[in-house]
Amino acid sequence: MSNFNVAKFGGTSVANFEAMSRCASIVENNPQTKLIVSSACSGVTNILVALANGVQDAEQRDSLVNQLADIHHAVLDQLSDPVETEKSIQTILSSVASAAEAASYQPSKKLTDHLVSTGELMSTLLLTQIFKERGNNAVRFDIRDVMRTDDNYGKAEAQLETIFSLAQEKLLPLCESNIVITQGFIGSDSEGNTTTFGRGGSDYSAALIAEAVQANGLEIWTDVPGIYTTDPRIAPKATPIPEISFSEASEMANFGAKILHPSTLVPALRHDIPVFVGSSKQPEKGGTWIRHQVQSKPLFRALALRRNQTMVTLRSASMFHAYGFLAKVFEILAKHKISVDLITTSEISVSLTLDQTDTTGGAPELPATAKAELEELCTVEVENDLCVVALIGNNISKQKGYASQVFSAVENFNLKMICYGASPNNLCFLVHESESTDAIEKLHFELFEQ
Ligand code: ASP
Ligand code: MG
Repeated sequence: MSNFNVAKFGGTSVANFEAMSRCASIVENNPQTKLIVSSACSGVTNILVALANGVQDAEQRDSLVNQLADIHHAVLDQLSDPVETEKSIQTILSSVASAAEAASYQPSKKLTDHLVSTGELMSTLLLTQIFKERGNNAVRFDIRDVMRTDDNYGKAEAQLETIFSLAQEKLLPLCESNIVITQGFIGSDSEGNTTTFGRGGSDYSAALIAEAVQANGLEIWTDVPGIYTTDPRIAPKATPIPEISFSEASEMANFGAKILHPSTLVPALRHDIPVFVGSSKQPEKGGTWIRHQVQSKPLFRALALRRNQTMVTLRSASMFHAYGFLAKVFEILAKHKISVDLITTSEISVSLTLDQTDTTGGAPELPATAKAELEELCTVEVENDLCVVALIGNNISKQKGYASQVFSAVENFNLKMICYGASPNNLCFLVHESESTDAIEKLHFELFEQ
């Protein structure tokens, strides 16, 4: 095991010169932290995604590229020695302009990944220079030399063994006498093409890197001082949670607490690496530790909301007392690489929600080809504008009496797909988008504010 931590800084943590300087002082205050994984500067990936989707109007394209230039130049302007960094950023911006033009003729997932990766490539150039100017031994490392993935652009899959051996060979020795700054979100396939892990993928990158260098701990620095009982913008009385178990936290990540990318905890859990979540703006406020073993195990720990759900309901009379129906359904979904999130079944129907993780954002869609194949088996109904409300806690399915407390709080809402029992750590259901924040507010009041 290495004796250092990996720290990931999210987009708002590296939004500008001041924010980046705060990151540097967090790292300087903790000599244990050696390896830094950075997101793109706040707002940059959104602009790059817009360009990658294909902007026909040349003027509009230029204006988006100028916005990118402004964000990065604002940092360059505050460097003491910007010359080399500026040259590198300029080269990247020119490549963005030509790739954006290509995307306006013919967008593709491969081109999208090539384009959106430039956000992290630019932010790490700036961050490294800031670390250096503050007197640190800092080096920038192109993570594409280590982060090997398949070629599923926009939602690449990590190739763990290769990542492990490349990290041991190329990354670990660098950390011995340097602070190493590298990119989250991006990787490369075996042919050297750039890939990405999907929006918000830097957390996952950082966890993979922490796993590959066998780090002591993983710090996720973001814009909130840890994980809260729910999103304080929805329920202002939400409170921070000092510690939470991996099992609870993975349910939270899965169920839409946007604090962590859903896959983040998988590598940390595999290697039992404690994960810290804190605010780079207010590091003194502490944060949340996610660990294997925790001291307290309350029945209700937190409430999470995941928007943009697509529910698919499949009905077939031939499901009645038959076997193999679900196997066929899942065979079709697997063939189309559609990942399923929630599922409930009855005698002749099954409802499921589609996972959403790819780089373009937006509600996940059931591809027409997959729908056509499913329609050979059964009727297919697709419903959008839904949200998952998830209640996270401990031993939920083993307690008596809690159901009336939970369901009376949401008695006025139309609940769909109530799921519980599969995990002792969560109970969840779908509500319409228009009712979602109300439902969270009512539940938080009932379960956490009494
Ligand atoms: N920059 C990417 C995004 O905005 C990845 C990340 O920040 O995690 O989605
Ligand atoms: Mg993020």
